Amino acid sequence: MRYLFLFFLFFLADYHSQVSESELSKRTKIIVKSLSTKEKIAQTCQLTLDALLKTNAEGQVIVPIQIDEKKLTQVIENDKIGSILNVSANTLDLKTWREILDKIHAIYNSKKVKIPVIYGVDAIHGANYVVGATLFPQEIGLSATWNPDLAIKMGGITAYETRASGVPWNFSPVLDLGRQPLWSRYFETLGEDPHLASEMGAALVKGYQGRDLYSPYSVLACMKHFVGYSYPNSGRDRTPAWIPERQMKELFLPSFKAAVDAGALSVMINSGTVNGIPGHANKKLLTDVLKGEFRFKGFAVSDWEDIRMLHTVHKIAKDQKEAIVLAINAGLDMSMVPYFGNYKEYLDLFEEAVNEKKISKKRLDDAVSRIIYVKLKLGLFEKPSFPIDLYTNFGSKEFQATAKQAALESITLLKNENQTLPIIKGEKILLLGAAADNLIFQNGSWTHTWQGVDTNFNTKGSRTIKQAFQNKMSGEYLKYERGYNLNLLNNWENCALFEIEKVRQEAEKCDKIIICLGEMPATEKPGDIRSLNLCAAQLQLVEEMQKLGKPIILLCLFGRPRIIRTIEPKSSAIINAYLPGDYGGDAIVDLLLGKENFSGKLPYTFPKYDGVIEHYDYVNAETLSGKTNKNDAIDPQWPFGFGLSYSNYTYSNCTLSKSTITSTNDSIIASVTITNTGKMAGKEIIQWFISDEYASISPANKKLKYFEKIDLLPNQTKTIEFVIHPSDLKFVGENNEWILEKGNFIISVENLKQPFKLE
Ligand code: BGC
Repeated sequence: MRYLFLFFLFFLADYHSQVSESELSKRTKIIVKSLSTKEKIAQTCQLTLDALLKTNAEGQVIVPIQIDEKKLTQVIENDKIGSILNVSANTLDLKTWREILDKIHAIYNSKKVKIPVIYGVDAIHGANYVVGATLFPQEIGLSATWNPDLAIKMGGITAYETRASGVPWNFSPVLDLGRQPLWSRYFETLGEDPHLASEMGAALVKGYQGRDLYSPYSVLACMKHFVGYSYPNSGRDRTPAWIPERQMKELFLPSFKAAVDAGALSVMINSGTVNGIPGHANKKLLTDVLKGEFRFKGFAVSDWEDIRMLHTVHKIAKDQKEAIVLAINAGLDMSMVPYFGNYKEYLDLFEEAVNEKKISKKRLDDAVSRIIYVKLKLGLFEKPSFPIDLYTNFGSKEFQATAKQAALESITLLKNENQTLPIIKGEKILLLGAAADNLIFQNGSWTHTWQGVDTNFNTKGSRTIKQAFQNKMSGEYLKYERGYNLNLLNNWENCALFEIEKVRQEAEKCDKIIICLGEMPATEKPGDIRSLNLCAAQLQLVEEMQKLGKPIILLCLFGRPRIIRTIEPKSSAIINAYLPGDYGGDAIVDLLLGKENFSGKLPYTFPKYDGVIEHYDYVNAETLSGKTNKNDAIDPQWPFGFGLSYSNYTYSNCTLSKSTITSTNDSIIASVTITNTGKMAGKEIIQWFISDEYASISPANKKLKYFEKIDLLPNQTKTIEFVIHPSDLKFVGENNEWILEKGNFIISVENLKQPFKLE
């Protein structure tokens, strides 16, 4: 019977995937027509889960959480609110998620409302708000894998486990470009390069949305945060960004365009301002570019309370009504209101604005049509959620293995002098660092709680770095000392040395010292920092250990690059593990013991100095040094795309099929041969860059155009091709349009180069 039922579901899914776009749009029109103005406005309203929960006399949510039936009736049945989001204070188990979703959907199922609710959460590195789900590296680490297939798999597993909880909408991926490492959400980005972010971001969208949104294993992706949010001048969250149109087009928009092309059907808007205009009131970007030029067919949701903030924070609206008018007319379709106390006002003011013709019926219908269209696409009308029996793979070993693989492929070896690594059997190791002793430092924020600092919710059965070492090495060869404290309650900068004498004594007895450095998890405004410098105690610990003259291995759990210039020279090996997730501990140990090979590469330029942020696509003027009178001013700690392995990859025979592109339909095939001349099997990432010799706009040093990750056994050779099209040579010209200019170009791969021409 059960199988018959499953068969029926899949039949439905398959049938639905064949429903044509014109049928969907017909159905959308019929539904929208059947709604009153009030009902339409309610569809644009999104409330946080707390709005449905029981509270105590002080208005605080009672824990364990319980749905308040009265509020539920008021919000969903009477006021017909279209969307709910979020988790309450912390992660929930599958059963609780299901109970919540079942109660919400029961109102639709019993035909008390016409439109099902769409529920959304931030499942940004796995289903991080579902107990027992599979937690992956944060996006910055995922990007360091340079492996879109892994991103598709991660997206697929996240979708599966999110849908298992009953939730069909994921506020991910973040497609904001990581060009400002001070920004507290740097770890949520895919790094500094538009091409890499586009490829990895589009892959995540494909993974989330699957072949068909109607499937029980797909979730709706949400592109975040359109656009320019990640580039605040001050580095602080939600503070102004100034981005000229050329930079906007060349750097910040491409990842969103790629995600739209990959089928993303929802978008969340930038809470900050760009060039003085709040994202939520930016009609040009939202309506003209995203919905017009990019042909985005989904809907745009605001970020947290952001319509209100047009009035209260950004001061461009004199009152709440004007704020609603500005945002909706700019092209916003749904408002994350999200508090219970504010939603009636939102509904009323919106209606007044429609009655006063400040918001046209056409704009309202467009917003609602987009929401209904996506709800139809998701199949919410037929099946708001699927039976739990469909999710037997939830938290499975198979999923965990993929998360570990993602961690393995992300972790980046930055230095390995005198073959300090791998650790050899029989060597005595001292492992140091508070960051090695708690999963929160591997996972970062958006893990079980918003900020991710509450250690009570750590995934049972997942290993910290310390536990992962203990799992593989006996106490005779492995000692652990904390070395420094990271203050869990206060700002992480309050960290201090811990029992340093004991550490010294242990260090005397060991052969190699691994020092795990880290940051307190933090995101959004609570994560604002003023400097990329590492906290003093961590530096001090490294310096103390370096005095002993033993090989030092730095293991960095950094959500963003931190300045390690002063401790780098006397460290023999350095590993950047980013925020590798619940299986990062196991992955790190397998890599350090040489059971696995390193294959991650930096998705950003690793800065050497706190005050100078460089990117790999700098222009020539940035290279001039007044000290040396040479072009050597660019001086990162490690360049973008850098990463070592236990193997050696030799590049040779970089050739071009011809030397000139003669028309816009013409192309050149570039090829290169790579041989693994090391002793260990590995994966190498082939990165193709193009440089323009002269252009009307001062050209970038180079731009990444194509990459491919390949497997190579020892002595194995592979030839990789990249077809250069004229579109790879385009840039945004003086008139802020993409243009092509004739001239000389250079293609480079590793240390090989070939010139070619565009005529
Ligand atoms: C964040 C978004 C997130 C939303 C819902 C906001 O504060 O900026 O990225 O999706 O909250 O949790």
